[in-house]
Amino acid sequence: MAVKDDKVEELARRRGFLWQAYEIYGGTAGFYDYGPLGARLKRQLEAEWRLFYSLEGFFEIESPTIAPVSVFKASGHLSCFSDLAVVCNKCDSFFRVDEELTAGGKCPECGGELVAAGELNLMFQTRIGVPKGRDGTRRGEGYLRPETAQGMFVNFQRLLRFNRSKLPFGVIQLGKAYRNEISPRQSLIRLREFTMAEVEVFVDPEAKNSHPNFDNVRDRRIWINPAEGEECETSVEDAVRNGTIANEYLGYHIAKVKEFLERIGIPSDRLRFRQHRKDEMAHYARDCWDAEFMSRRYGWMEIVGIADRGDYDLSAHAMHSKVDMGVPTQTRSKIIPHVIEPSYGLDRIIYALLESAFTEEQVGKETRKVLRFVPELAPVKAAVFPLLNRTELKQKAEEVFQSLKRELVYVDYDDSGSIGRRYRRQDEIGTPYCVTIDYQTLEDDTVTIRNRDTMAQQRVRIADLPAVILADIRKLHV
Ligand SMILES: [Zn+2]
Repeated sequence: MAVKDDKVEELARRRGFLWQAYEIYGGTAGFYDYGPLGARLKRQLEAEWRLFYSLEGFFEIESPTIAPVSVFKASGHLSCFSDLAVVCNKCDSFFRVDEELTAGGKCPECGGELVAAGELNLMFQTRIGVPKGRDGTRRGEGYLRPETAQGMFVNFQRLLRFNRSKLPFGVIQLGKAYRNEISPRQSLIRLREFTMAEVEVFVDPEAKNSHPNFDNVRDRRIWINPAEGEECETSVEDAVRNGTIANEYLGYHIAKVKEFLERIGIPSDRLRFRQHRKDEMAHYARDCWDAEFMSRRYGWMEIVGIADRGDYDLSAHAMHSKVDMGVPTQTRSKIIPHVIEPSYGLDRIIYALLESAFTEEQVGKETRKVLRFVPELAPVKAAVFPLLNRTELKQKAEEVFQSLKRELVYVDYDDSGSIGRRYRRQDEIGTPYCVTIDYQTLEDDTVTIRNRDTMAQQRVRIADLPAVILADIRKLHV
């Protein structure tokens, strides 16, 4: 199914989106650098995500990426967050057990025999402060967080008070998380350090089937692959009513995930929601769905997980910390809220964006490579060219460049090579507009503006330029 086609990754490397980390030392598997354009793309994606969930009325927090062992004893990560491993009896390489790699199988590195190596915990361990007391006892055991969610759970009581002790409410967090993968072979897909964007919605368990805004999403169509039954297209409402999706809150957030992914440029025909089978569900989940992107290179890949975590986390922290996590209600005694969690893997989404945006088309004898990003995410919003390498044109182009930069910030200037080559360079990084200064500009203060997708050109007054471009860039917000 997966095609060995690394054109997207080649372009991403060459044009400064993504680089193998520590390349000069041979690279370290599972770590990636975002180059100048990649970092800009990612920051804008993060901004879109923040905005999207802030409009839901959720608030953002930022917790540390290191936590003491007590947090992960309570959360279950210390005992449950592991992968089965096999080890080669010849070259000592470890591998995560999957369909192709099992005990008794052959080592892909050297052909030796693979033997069972038990469960390996996936958390990165560290020490907080001095690792040993004077009496030699070990202390300060800490771990790099494997998800941002725990930061929201351990702060639950403060967050509840912040929300004037009312349910439901949502909290978001965006940041790095870590998983010490045993053998990350699909470089971009299985990272050891990655960025997560997580939403925790705290809700009264008895209210899970009456989301206040369910009407807004009930008719939306989603492609689902349920744990039981056939893959099919359905409305959110039908999937909730017939019990395929456990409740309205989960259904609502599945619909919102789809809305966000489409908004940023993931085509809906390459998107499906797959339900976890009982035996693959995480230790905390009651019902769990993955938003999967159909990659030409990797096949279906998970880019967002949407889980009903029940009261697992708050109950576990209440038990281990002895802090009450109950919420008083008017009619019942205290309840432990349930948690609905959409959890986005932003690095995988960046990959999905690059692959979705990448197109090749024949223009005359040339192959035009284009990244068709939605304008809002494009790392460069506009490029300014003087038509010819002449002082009077360059001067005017420099003026336009400076004024456009004040409005759009991310603007390029390019005066080297033919105009056709300059267009191609911008197409390759997804710049939605190219602005050309020619001799007519010197007479009437108009320029040509060329659209990346249609290659159509129109003549626009310099004074109107920012408005014309901004009108398109802001489309996403209305
Ligand atoms: Zn081997």
